[in-house]
Amino acid sequence: MSDNYLPPEISNELGRIGPSAAADRNFYARGVTSKTLFGIDGIPVAELVEKFGSPLFVFSEHQIREKARHLREAFKSRYPNTSFAWSYKTNYLAAVCQVFHQEGWIAEVVSDFEYEKARKLGIAGKDIVFNGPYKPRAILEVAIRERALIQIDNWDELCLIEELVKDIPQPLNVGIRVWLDAGIRPIWSKFGFSLESGEAGRVAARIVANPKLQLHTLHTHIGTYILEPAAYGIAARKLVGLREQIRVEYQHLVPCLNLGGGFPSQSVLHGMVGSPELLIPAIERYADAVTAVLNELPHKLRPALRFETGRHLIDEAGYLLSSVVAVKGVRHPVVTGADWSLRDYKEQLILGDDAKASYLIDAGVTLLYTGAWYQINVYPAEARNAPLSPVRLYGPLCMAIDVVRYSVDLPPLNVGDVLTLHPVGAYNVTQSMQFITYRPAVIMINQQGVPELIRRREVLNDVDGPERLPAHLKT
Ligand SMILES: *Cc1c(COP(=O)(O)O)cnc(C)c1O
Repeated sequence: MSDNYLPPEISNELGRIGPSAAADRNFYARGVTSKTLFGIDGIPVAELVEKFGSPLFVFSEHQIREKARHLREAFKSRYPNTSFAWSYKTNYLAAVCQVFHQEGWIAEVVSDFEYEKARKLGIAGKDIVFNGPYKPRAILEVAIRERALIQIDNWDELCLIEELVKDIPQPLNVGIRVWLDAGIRPIWSKFGFSLESGEAGRVAARIVANPKLQLHTLHTHIGTYILEPAAYGIAARKLVGLREQIRVEYQHLVPCLNLGGGFPSQSVLHGMVGSPELLIPAIERYADAVTAVLNELPHKLRPALRFETGRHLIDEAGYLLSSVVAVKGVRHPVVTGADWSLRDYKEQLILGDDAKASYLIDAGVTLLYTGAWYQINVYPAEARNAPLSPVRLYGPLCMAIDVVRYSVDLPPLNVGDVLTLHPVGAYNVTQSMQFITYRPAVIMINQQGVPELIRRREVLNDVDGPERLPAHLKT
């Protein structure tokens, strides 16, 4: 080898990830039509925007119920003693919670606000699973009085609960949250007590020894968007082991195992390649993994099984309709040198940020928190017989980071065209942020196909109502 050897240069020649990079090289490989979404539950999206305004969150009651029934069937057919709690933080719109409650779901809450919201919706304390790393004393007092199932997160919380239950007449059912290694990285060690170090066993011993407490549940929530069904089998096996240890050492059989949430929805993370149908295991595979472990136990030793599924149940039932408000960017590259080849032009057109055509839409990142992790699909409302090209979608906020999609293949669009962003039903409404503008209306299409308002668009008073102006600033 000569001294002049230069190693091959690793450039970003291929642009983005493999398959789309190939399409970047060849406009015609993109096909000529994009997937469109004309309507939701039979109602044209254009009609919804006309009636309720834009942007607009849309939920399908039919799709929520279908998903709930599918999940319930997958588990109950394999393990009848399964129950479900709706993870409020995933979406706590009253109408959404009520659909789950009507389907038999109890409430799973993680804060004082969520606890109070569940009570306001008529959920009895005994039908509330109370999670979260910080439960303020005032709400713990209420939850204990109302006999909610508190799933204890840490020693300080246990000490406080011990103090608060001293004088209660009947022992209180409690759970403990446990963290463990189910093969998923990162391990969520922020929450609960460590199983592997023996800490969870020590907490259990202390609870079992307290005549005012009954250890009702061993709980774990190993993460979210878990693509590996076997991880749930491992988690179940580890909790069964802890339960057995508690039975043998302290003669207490814990009645319930709660495996939390974490089942994926049909979305794909940034950087993942392939369609969700290929990447996301069916819910039945998760049910197999968990119930196989429990069904090995002798009948009389089988625990009640509980889940607190969020994302999987609601993500696809939620849509965000948004309108194109401006067409921006140059469709032709700015050429500076005279020596550009045709290929250079094309390269610039496809990959160059400045050269990329872009659209400004009326929904931004303040409504699409999950867009930071997931590739949210964008569907025009009608087919255009024109080649697709990679474009950028900007939100309406006066902030450079307000980009809904950095690169997405779309046909040419005009101002006024309606786009549907999907799936967005999980977390986006609850995490949406009020910043410089009003949060949009939310509708639910009922099972008769009638769209109903479930949260009106905000007005000024919703935003500045809590403000107070000191007297000397009033003039
Ligand atoms: C957020 C959360 C859930 C729901 O998680 P998903 O991944 O949306 O299913 C369940 N349990 C606990 C304790 C949570 O914090």
